[in-house]
Amino acid sequence: MLIDDAEGLVFRPPSEARSFILRVTIGCSHNTCTFCPMYKNSRFRIRTMKEIDEVITRGAAAYPFIRRLFLADGDALILPTDQLLQIIKKCYTAFPSLTRIGAYATPSDLDRKTPLELQRLHEAGLHILYMGIESGDDEVLQQVCKGTTAAITIRAGRKAMDAGMKLSTMILLGLGGQARTKQHALHTATVVSAINPTMLSALSLIIPPQVSLYQEVIRGTFTPLTEHGFLQELYTILANTHMKNPCIFRSNHVSNLYPVGGTLPMDKEKMLLQIKSLLTQADDTIPLLNDTGNF
Ligand code: SF4
Repeated sequence: MLIDDAEGLVFRPPSEARSFILRVTIGCSHNTCTFCPMYKNSRFRIRTMKEIDEVITRGAAAYPFIRRLFLADGDALILPTDQLLQIIKKCYTAFPSLTRIGAYATPSDLDRKTPLELQRLHEAGLHILYMGIESGDDEVLQQVCKGTTAAITIRAGRKAMDAGMKLSTMILLGLGGQARTKQHALHTATVVSAINPTMLSALSLIIPPQVSLYQEVIRGTFTPLTEHGFLQELYTILANTHMKNPCIFRSNHVSNLYPVGGTLPMDKEKMLLQIKSLLTQADDTIPLLNDTGNF
């Protein structure tokens, strides 16, 4: 018997590769971001407690030794806090070796929780959240229908950090295209500095044919960055970050052209030198779709 036979594709952060995936929702309640293919074929729903209970029971029987658990799909935090607390408690009871629960959190979902609610969730065992910042520029966020603003994102991120949670954040290089690359980079640096998350990952924009941004590329209203443009954007973001507390930075996702990593602010100059050297050889003529080859 399958442990979980619910519909739709399952996604999780790379660092949750060894975690038990407990899907408390199916899909993403927002699901309109023009660059995101993840849940396009899933109809959003919050799963019933009966469904969730059954998956926990089957999972605990098959993998009683699990130490980490990830609440999926796209925005587990849309669940009411009391329901989340109930689920978290059941998980720690069912999996006796469990040490950590994580979840994706959209800025809007996080922002709707009060500081006290987040503190209770942290104390119950929700230790790490993964928040897609994507961009700190309001115009870019509006263009890609992210459904949030820089101010909401900062408030949401600070709330999670103040509640004592680990916060892993993602930004998306190239999301402003060539037209908005500078404002995207500068405002993203401002937002990540204001949040000062535990971890920051810079992924590079991929534009597969199934996302609506692809049509904008075809129409000529969105021009993707070149290899040089991606690197320049990364350079501008890093150069303009001002972290007060250590933040682990990674740009080594499969979407990235070159791996860059270190801890901010200590390794900032070293990473900038590396990117500067890469920039001298980077092509600045061909816009990259970064998925199906050159455009
Ligand atoms: S980027 Fe996040 S919020 Fe936007 S559609 Fe994808 S999963 Fe949903």
